[in-house]
Amino acid sequence: MCGIVGYIGKQKASAIILEGLKRLEYRGYDSAGVATQQGDHFDLAKKIGRVEGLIKTTPALKLPGTTGIGHTRWATHGGVTDANAHPHISSDQKFAIIHNGVVENYASIKKFLLTKGYTFKSETDTEVLCNLIAYHYQKEPATKEGSRFLESVRKTLRHIEGTYGIAVMCADNPAEIVAARKGSPLILGVGDGELMLASDVSAIISRTQNVVYLKDGEIVHMTAQNFSITTLDSSDVSPVIDKITWNIEDSEVGAFDHFMEKEIFEQPAALENTMRGRFSEDGSTAQFGGLNITAIDFRQVDRFHFIACGSAWHACLVAEQLIERFARVPVEVDYASEFRYRNIPLSKNALFFTISQSGETIDTLAAMREAKRKGYKVLAISNVVGSSIAREADGGVYQHVGPEIGVASTKAFTSQLLVGAMLALYIGRMRDMSFSGGIEYVKALKGAPDLVRETLKLAPQLKEIAKRYAHYKDMLFLGRLTLFPVALEGALKLKEISYIHAEGYPAAEMKHGPIALISEECPSVFFVPSGEMFNKVVSSMQEIKARKGKIIAIATQNCELPSGLVDELIRIPECHEAVLPIVASIPVQLLSYYMAVELKRDVDKPRNLAKSVTVE
Ligand code: GLU
Repeated sequence: MCGIVGYIGKQKASAIILEGLKRLEYRGYDSAGVATQQGDHFDLAKKIGRVEGLIKTTPALKLPGTTGIGHTRWATHGGVTDANAHPHISSDQKFAIIHNGVVENYASIKKFLLTKGYTFKSETDTEVLCNLIAYHYQKEPATKEGSRFLESVRKTLRHIEGTYGIAVMCADNPAEIVAARKGSPLILGVGDGELMLASDVSAIISRTQNVVYLKDGEIVHMTAQNFSITTLDSSDVSPVIDKITWNIEDSEVGAFDHFMEKEIFEQPAALENTMRGRFSEDGSTAQFGGLNITAIDFRQVDRFHFIACGSAWHACLVAEQLIERFARVPVEVDYASEFRYRNIPLSKNALFFTISQSGETIDTLAAMREAKRKGYKVLAISNVVGSSIAREADGGVYQHVGPEIGVASTKAFTSQLLVGAMLALYIGRMRDMSFSGGIEYVKALKGAPDLVRETLKLAPQLKEIAKRYAHYKDMLFLGRLTLFPVALEGALKLKEISYIHAEGYPAAEMKHGPIALISEECPSVFFVPSGEMFNKVVSSMQEIKARKGKIIAIATQNCELPSGLVDELIRIPECHEAVLPIVASIPVQLLSYYMAVELKRDVDKPRNLAKSVTVE
């Protein structure tokens, strides 16, 4: 959570930083702020609300420097106030700081600093960090003049428990920034005569495609001419400059009203990108370049553990069913935040998978570290190249769907479903799945983008339905087998962007409690597949209808529904069961999107949320 940007160069820093902050706003939008430096003086503008608001109230003249730092906040310590907005300045006016993360031991440090005469204007943990740097700077011997700034930050960070991505300016060192990370993402952009820092590449892509992904425990010292990277214990690091493969248009909303809408309609291409080059030449199985685990080792696995949060957790639930069905290997799925604190008996040959779009989800990262501490291999499914989870994993699969900016996941979610389906195929083909079964499966997966394209044509129908249903306060989403996690995802989408209360359940579970909610005031969305579950699902629908509940049915083409049973009928194509969850996700994404638009919600930046959850 929270977006940070830094700039050193010849241009006016504030304009570049504010532009970058706009692109990072999906990470947090409680407040925004910028500080620039001229000589030994900081100019500061910060304010609650969106970056746009800050821009409107800040005359360009107010922030003249060519070195600067900026922040969009997702508050953890201290309310949403102007005083708590970043950047923070140390009480001796020597340091300005921005911070993404949480200083867990801030209270004891603050107590100490108060005894030393430091004062505080905010309730944040970040200001404590800033004053601690000032304290160490005062103590740092003058002989270290050249590196006194850097060393005082290093010393401070050794005392910090918690997570941080920080950027710091020092009044005595104009045109310098010291930045560091532990548990929060930070990228250095190496431009033409300028350097930038950002939480993710979307903030810097308009100026450079050359980036260094900083690692946990690294500190970068940036000057107008150069940069150097060292570790917390002062070892030198040789930087690796990577090239970003996407461009600025990928992170712009273009002709769409919202990023979420754009990303929903990008799904056919996103799925093609996820699959590209990942099928064997004979067309009977999947292949993955980066798993870093031999087929023989894969065959030894006696249990897979999938770990994730939010929508990615729903994708795990689908993967669980597909792997168990097609590969016949038991799968356990856990919420990352719970896994760490549970004490699950683990089998000798277990293998872990984590799923995180951003690759920075702190709960997932922590769960992954716990599994590794226990001696297990962990593979990661992630969309962000060079992210913490991708780097720390033993191997994994990149989703390649381009930046996902809308807070509600859409294209990243269906791509995760696809990777799960491909893994089920890959593992299945190592075991009992026949050659012809593999051929049929691969053909089905390759056809998924077209089926999604077809399903997206439902948009006008769903827009109309959304208008009729947006006034309801509660909704149920009901599905069976692999469509149960899609029901959970549908309910989550609706909750997070429209703020309508919604629950997802296995359709037959409804009679064990949730049916008490049913009345004319609580509609249900049913997923109705043809095949063995059809009659069972229809029975559940009858039970709802008997209690005057409205029904929106998302049914595959061949389902013949009893007349008068449903109030709205949305037809999706018949498809292979590995593809069905992907196709069935489309109508619920569109429904929740249009309902949120109808209610005039801030679709891309729903209240209280942020995209990349980098706090525990
Ligand atoms: N803990 C800091 C605060 O509450 C930073 C939060 C963030 O990452 O935005 O201000």
